[in-house]
Amino acid sequence: MGQIELRGIPAAPGITIGKVHLLDSEELVVKKKRIPQSQLKKEAVRFEDALNKTRREIVEIKDKISVEMGREHGEIFSAHLLVLEDKVLIEEVKARLKKEKVVVEYIFLDVLKKYINAFSKIDDEYLKDRISDINDVGKRILRNLIGATHKILSDVGGEKVVVVAYDLSPSDTASMYKKDVIGIATDIGGRTSHTAIMAKSLEIPAVVGLETITKRANNGDMIVVDGNHGVIIINPTKQTLLKYKSDQKRFRRFDEGLVYLKDLPCQTLDGRRVELVANIELPEEVPSVLFHGAEGIGLYRTEFFYMNRRDLPTEEEHFQGYKKVAQDMAPRHTIVRTLDLGGDKFLSELEVPREMNPFLGWRAIRFCLARPDIFKTQLKAILRASAFGKLKIMYPMISGLNELRQANVILEEVKKELRASKISFDEDIAVGAMIEVPSAALTSDILAKEVDFFSIGTNDLIQYSLAVDRVNEKIAYLYEPAHPAVLRLVKTIIDNGHKEGIWVGMCGEMAGDPNLTLILLGLGLDEFSTPSIMLPEIKHIVRSVKMADAKLIAQEALMLPTGREVEAYARKKLLELVSETREGV
Ligand code: PEP
Ligand code: MG
Repeated sequence: MGQIELRGIPAAPGITIGKVHLLDSEELVVKKKRIPQSQLKKEAVRFEDALNKTRREIVEIKDKISVEMGREHGEIFSAHLLVLEDKVLIEEVKARLKKEKVVVEYIFLDVLKKYINAFSKIDDEYLKDRISDINDVGKRILRNLIGATHKILSDVGGEKVVVVAYDLSPSDTASMYKKDVIGIATDIGGRTSHTAIMAKSLEIPAVVGLETITKRANNGDMIVVDGNHGVIIINPTKQTLLKYKSDQKRFRRFDEGLVYLKDLPCQTLDGRRVELVANIELPEEVPSVLFHGAEGIGLYRTEFFYMNRRDLPTEEEHFQGYKKVAQDMAPRHTIVRTLDLGGDKFLSELEVPREMNPFLGWRAIRFCLARPDIFKTQLKAILRASAFGKLKIMYPMISGLNELRQANVILEEVKKELRASKISFDEDIAVGAMIEVPSAALTSDILAKEVDFFSIGTNDLIQYSLAVDRVNEKIAYLYEPAHPAVLRLVKTIIDNGHKEGIWVGMCGEMAGDPNLTLILLGLGLDEFSTPSIMLPEIKHIVRSVKMADAKLIAQEALMLPTGREVEAYARKKLLELVSETREGV
């Protein structure tokens, strides 16, 4: 078969060459787990709920298809509904549940397999056709039983592979940690979707938004992933392979060439010092953070505590995690961001209803203020861990002063409780707000009076200010970090923060974009928080220029009328002033 080249969105840097592992989006992991007699009733109810939920889903699809494609197409789903009415199948699951006392998904899967097996042995075309219906409905029921976030990558078999998937949930990507995954390519997603963010954290080259990769690639195909330029090549010719192998070497040399920077300060030629810190999603990333010379952690995303599980994490689990990171990072600091559920980070366990506009909905601090029980558990754990290292607290998605004040009231309550129980914590713990909603950016003069620091969350700030869904590959061309509107908001936030005497950092992906480093530096940003792998390159740029030049570049950039022009100008200046860049290699 000939070589196929696809262009997508560069999500995590690096070049990798390997074999395709197509991740079946239906790949479900079901484990046999015993349950006590007392839980049998609950388990049966869970099964009923999954059946009902599946029925609702199918009716919805049937109606939609009937309207869009005609009644006869919709009727296909009537057969699916019939599977749900199959008394023999359902009664067998219920009977075995009582007898065997193991989780219902395990029994259901077993019964389902037997069913499919029996049908496939009967020599009847009609019944054979029913197998795919049973399979489809069965998987749907299973997914509803397990919860979507439990769809994780199973073992890839000890071979180094490039995972090709329609999409990856944050927990899918998290489960790749230390597995043999050397590259990622997905049909959907944008530059700041969580697949992209996780891939960068895990240092796995990735390209997202390829639209048709799952249809074009087959298991075992040779594939090149160029995460620097957002290109994928399936079945490369010998010549292409040679080119990418040599590019791979050059980029490796470029990265290795920056290792010497590790312990040098992040400071311009004329002495402006900025703080260079890392973003992490998992405590296991700390060694990489230190290896790359971070001065601290500027964003510790804590959502992963809540994933791949059916219950909520306990205060002790939170505490142990934060304590470990605090101790491993000491004397450096760590900014713990409180739970940012919602948007593209769903946790099915919390039964948060699906929403029409999840990014504008019940997420992050809004959710935490509505569920102070969950919020307090996390705050208590962070405070307790603050006795073991330097921790700071940061609230996500603050949209105005009321939310900030409400969060602080809850924080004070938790502090009071700890004092009453004589549990020690850092009484001077710093509290900051992420500025990622335009209303917060525009009122940052007000907010700055009541926090210790700001961290600009550009991933969201860009999507909200430009009205561009950050995970939608179809409109990715409109997602422009260098858009004049974004630059103006960033400038406003930095200036307002400085007027009130607080420092202003940035932890969105924009902070790790080498093309924009000079502008951000010139605008006066005090802290850059980026995925570990980007740290050396950003430091190299900062150390190659004078602050006076960066200021002029920022001023010039602010006068340009479009994002494209800003980007082109920034790249030109970067190549002019900085001896070696990833682009220039
Ligand atoms: C951001 O929005 O820029 C950010 C850092 O938060 P997240 O990507 O987790 O939404
Ligand atoms: Mg955000």
